[in-house]
Amino acid sequence: MNYVIKSLAVESLMEKANKIYLANFPAETNFERALFFSWYCSIRDCKFCYMSTQPNDNKYQKIGRRTTESLLAEALLIKHLGWEVGFLSGGKGAYTTEGFLDLVKKLNLVIGEKIWINIGAIKKEELENLQPYVKGVVGSIETVNIKVHDFVCPSKPIEPYLEMFNDATKLGMKKAITIILGLGETEDDFPALENLIKQYGIDKIHFYGLNPHKDTVFEGFASPTKYYQAWWIAKTRIAFPKLDIQFGIWDDRANRVAFLLNAGANSISKYPALKAFGTKSAFELEAQCKQANRLFKGTLTKLPNLNWNNIVDNLELDKELKQNIKIKLNQYLKNMGKPLEEHPTDSH
Ligand code: SF4
Repeated sequence: MNYVIKSLAVESLMEKANKIYLANFPAETNFERALFFSWYCSIRDCKFCYMSTQPNDNKYQKIGRRTTESLLAEALLIKHLGWEVGFLSGGKGAYTTEGFLDLVKKLNLVIGEKIWINIGAIKKEELENLQPYVKGVVGSIETVNIKVHDFVCPSKPIEPYLEMFNDATKLGMKKAITIILGLGETEDDFPALENLIKQYGIDKIHFYGLNPHKDTVFEGFASPTKYYQAWWIAKTRIAFPKLDIQFGIWDDRANRVAFLLNAGANSISKYPALKAFGTKSAFELEAQCKQANRLFKGTLTKLPNLNWNNIVDNLELDKELKQNIKIKLNQYLKNMGKPLEEHPTDSH
C-alpha cells in the first residue's frame, strides 16, 4: 500500500487547508456518533468488512434489530452530551417502510431536528416519504478508484447511490459520501473524488481509515498513516472550502486528532464514545482538540448533572416506551460511570 507521503509536503498543504477552514468555519469541533439500528447485512462480501468473514449461519444473517427504547436512549445521550448524530444506519430489511418511517419520526422528536440516514441506495418514492424528517442521505461509496471498488465491493455498485443523489437533489435533500482510505487507492485518484463531489453536489464527506480485520484480504496490511489521512483531508478542504469533512478514528488513534483537525476537518467520528467515555483516550481526544485550537463542543469525559427522568417524561411518546427508555438510559449511564439515581431528581 502506498502511504509514502512526504511529511513536509503534507504539512505545507495542511497549513493552507487550515487557513481555508478557519476562513469558513468557527474554530470548533465536535463528535458525531453513528446510530446503528441493526447489524444485519444482506451483502456481506465487501472485502474489508468484518461481516465478510462471518459464517452464513451467524447473527449478521438474521434480520435482528435493536429495540426502539435503546435507540432513543442513545439518541438522548447524543443530544445532551453535545454530540451529533452522524447518521442512522443499519440493514434496511430490519424494518418495514412504515416501521422505519416511524423510527425516524421518533428520533426527530427526541433529537429535535432532522437526521442523516445511511441505509443503502433508496428509491425516490421512499425518499419523498422520509424527506420531512431526514436532512440528507449518505452513500457508502468507500473508494472512487473504480478498479479497487469492483474488487472490494463486488455486490455494492456505485451507480444506485448516484441515482439516489440525483433524486435527493431534486427533493432538496443533502448528500454525503463515505470513503475508506487504504483500500488500494492512491493520490492519483483525488481528481475522481473531486469530480464526484462536484458532479453530485456532495455536502459532506466521511473519511475513514482501513482497519485491517483478521481473515479479510487486508489482514496484515498497515492502516493509513496520519500523513496519508491528512493529505486527503487537506486536498479536499482546499478544493472545497465549505464542504463538511469528517474523519473517523478508533480509540487507539486519539493521538492523531489534532493533526487531522489541522488538515482542515470539521468533526470526529467512529470513536467508540459510549465504551470509551471518561477513559484516558477520551481525555486525550479532548486535549488534542484543544491542541489544535478548536473548542470541543460537548463532552466525552464528564457526565452532565441532568434530571434525565424529567427529560424523558417531557417527551411526547407513550408512557410504556418512556418507561423502557429510562431503563435503557440507566444502563448506559451506569456503564458510563453514573447511574440515573445519582443524577439530580428535582424538577427544573
Ligand atoms: S461494508 Fe459491505 S459487507 Fe460490510 S456491512 Fe456494509 S454492505 Fe455489508
